[in-house]
Amino acid sequence: MTYIIAAPCIDVLDRGCVDVCPVDCIYEGPDQLYIDPEECIDCGACEPECPVTAIFPEDEVPEEWESYIKKNYGYFEGDVERDVAKGRAG
Ligand code: SF4
Ligand code: SF4
Repeated sequence: MTYIIAAPCIDVLDRGCVDVCPVDCIYEGPDQLYIDPEECIDCGACEPECPVTAIFPEDEVPEEWESYIKKNYGYFEGDVERDVAKGRAG
């Protein structure tokens, strides 16, 4: 499991969640922030920090934002540059 960031984060990007994540697995994308599903330890610390309620456990994402599950996972798939930046590849 992982936590997922959905639509309310778009254009807010205040990074409140980033500060509380104990494993630094929340990354800033061009439009919203994304949680790396491989790094997230499901601690839930970020969820109450979000001022716009954009963060949900993967199995509790509201139906209208289910596409964001794929979007979050997809953000970390096959991106060599990002993996290099994070020390995972290269
Ligand atoms: S649930 Fe915990 S580990 Fe996962 S993104 Fe939120 S703060 Fe980070
Ligand atoms: S706290 Fe919420 S709105 Fe702010 S960056 Fe994180 S997910 Fe986006």
